[in-house]
Formats: sequence, C-alpha cells, structure tokens
Amino acid sequence: ATISPEIFQEVLSAYAWGEGTLSYNSYGEGHINNTYLVTVNGKTVTRYILQRINTDIFTDPKSLMENICGVTSYLRDLISKRGGDVSRETMSIVPTKTGSSYYTDSTGGAWRVYNFVENTICLQQCRNTEDFYTSARAFGQFQKNLADYDASSLHETIPNFHNTPDRLRKFKEALKADVLHRAADISDDIAFVLDHEADCSYMTDLLAAGKLPLRVTHNDTKLNNILLDADTNDALCIIDLDTVMPGLAANDYGDSIRFGANHSAEDEPDLSKVNFSLELFEAYTKGFLEVAGNALTPLEIETLPWGAKLMTLECGMRFLTDYLEGDHYFAIHRPGQNLDRARTQFKLVRDMEACWSEMNNIVSKYSK
Ligand code: ATP
Ligand code: MG
Ligand code: MG
Repeated sequence: ATISPEIFQEVLSAYAWGEGTLSYNSYGEGHINNTYLVTVNGKTVTRYILQRINTDIFTDPKSLMENICGVTSYLRDLISKRGGDVSRETMSIVPTKTGSSYYTDSTGGAWRVYNFVENTICLQQCRNTEDFYTSARAFGQFQKNLADYDASSLHETIPNFHNTPDRLRKFKEALKADVLHRAADISDDIAFVLDHEADCSYMTDLLAAGKLPLRVTHNDTKLNNILLDADTNDALCIIDLDTVMPGLAANDYGDSIRFGANHSAEDEPDLSKVNFSLELFEAYTKGFLEVAGNALTPLEIETLPWGAKLMTLECGMRFLTDYLEGDHYFAIHRPGQNLDRARTQFKLVRDMEACWSEMNNIVSKYSK
C-alpha cells in the first residue's frame, strides 16, 4: 500500500518521540506488514520500528496487539529479573500519546511502534547447518521463556491455524466440490492425503485429552524473524509476533523442521531433488532441546517427530486444497505451482516416515 505523507504526519504525531528531528524510511525485507525505521535525531540518535499492520490478513488488530503486549511485557519482566538487557533481548511496544498499544489512522490503517533493537543481524537464509542450529536455540529460548505463561489467555487470532483435522476436512470439501475438475489428474496425491487421515488427529487428540499442554507458540519460526547480536552472532531477540497464539510446542518445532530440514525450494518440481535432511533435523533438534528441553514435558519431547510430520502433511494439504480451489490463497507465478508445493511436502513426509526410528532416536539422544 502507498501511504500519503499526510497519513505519515498524522501517525507520527500520535506518538511522543522526544526532542529531535524526525525522519522515516522503509525498512527490512518483511512481506506482510509495511515496516519503517523512524530516526529521532536529537542530543542522541534514537531509532524505532514503525509498522502498518496488514489488516487484510490480521483482521482483529486489537486482539493481536493484546497478545503481543501480554507476551512482550512478560518477557521484559523475566529478562530484567534475570539481569538481562531489556532493550535488546525482547521487543517492546511503544504506546501512543494516549497510552494505546496501536494507533488507528483516519483511513482505518492500524499502526504500532517497537523499540529498534540496535546492532543486530537478520539473516534471510541459512548459510550452513550452524545457522539452523542457532535458530533452533533462539526459538527454544522463546519457548522456554514463555513456558509458564498462561497460553489460554492469548487470543486465537487465526482460528484453527494448526487444527490438522480441520485442514483435512477443508481438503475433503475442496475435493468434493472439485470446481476446476482438477481431481482426476491427481489421484495419487489425493490418495496420499486420505491414507493419512488417522495421523491427522494424533496431536490434537493428545491435546484434547489433556496429555499435551497448551503453549505460547510463535507460528512463523523463520530465520529472518530472529535478530542475532552483530558482535557475538548469538541469537538475541525473537521478532514478528503477529502470529503468537496458543498452540503446541511441537508445532513451532515441526514447522521449522518442515521448511528448514531440506535443501530444496518449496515448489521444486523435480522431486528427486527434494530430500529430508537428517543432518539438519539433528542440528535443529539438538539446539532446540539443549535450550528448551527441561521446560517441556516428556510426552511433548517424545512427540516432536509427530510435530515435524504433521506440520509438513498439513502444509501439503493446504497447498493441495488451494490447487483444487483454483489457487486463490497462495499466490502462484506459474500453473501447477501449488501442486508442486503440495508434492514437495508429501515427499518430505514420505522421507520422514522412512527414517522415523532415526528421528525418534535423535530426539531421545538430546532429551537427556
Ligand atoms: P514477514 O514477512 O516475516 O511476516 P513482517 O512483514 O511481519 O515479515 P517483521 O518481520 O515484523 O515484518 O519486520 C521486518 C523486518 O524488520 C525484520 O525482518 C527485521 O529485519 C526488521 N525488524 C523488525 N522489528 C525490528 C526491531 N524491533 N528491531 C530491529 N529490526 C527489526
Ligand atoms: Mg518477519
Ligand atoms: Mg510477519
């Protein structure tokens, strides 16, 4: 969205920036929100992140901001009790002049301001196994820090986000409707999904039975949602908290494995190039459990491979559903792209099934 200078002035004047000259520029490589760096040039230079929340995707900014404020103020208390650097180890929301966590402009846009975490690096892609290990430690730390947070107090800003049985139900609906008559040519892919029907409810059943705890989950555990300390290269701060919701620890872990434990593009058409990497799986599992291991229950740890498998299956089902429905959720740049995306996920699920005992052995190796 292009935003007029008048709207910028309106938004900027809603905040008390302190003494100095204000300037702003587009910032970062995010795809969801519009992100700006605001610089206040006074006696010292202070910087902030200003974001226009994507309200097409996040239709309830009030609940979303309640989640973010709840989690970030909890982290602030925890880090300060621990003697950590509150200005760098968590983001903090900067309130408006009237004390609100966000500002709604005269055109309906929703804006928020964060402290800018100085002297950091944000990697767009893993350069090596070590980077994946570092990201596991970062998200493990996030999970551990929030282990005692009452996750049921968080709003489910995207309902049923990782409700795998519900994703299956939606897939079956799309299959039944088959509006573009695409089903006939993809019978193997359809059979793959239907053969996994019983698996879909494995984790949600354990949750419903009270055997797995509800946790604070991040739900976008990508490398570029971690800030690394520029001096030490250690993970410093988890950002991009829009999708913080109640969920299962294994789902955050599993989604990281889904996209990180392979060397291929998500839409690779040549499936011979799509291979689940046990080496990357081990690196992530090691990092995650080294940090979060003692904050998780034995069953949460034991079911981590299920998180990996089901997040991958679920993602594949979503791509295939969208393919059947005519590609209106995941943007495509060529015909068949969502089918290719679904197939890479199913190939990874097959690979995981083929090395299921190795995966379980790796998890138990690092759970001591
Ligand atoms: P995505 O496409 O990952 O969903 P997004 O549009 O939600 O991204 P963010 O990830 O919140 O946007 O921010 C975009 C980028 O801005 C980050 O990748 C990071 O480089 C930078 N950034 C965001 N918040 C901060 C902060 N508090 N301090 C320093 N840099 C930040
Ligand atoms: Mg981001
Ligand atoms: Mg985001």
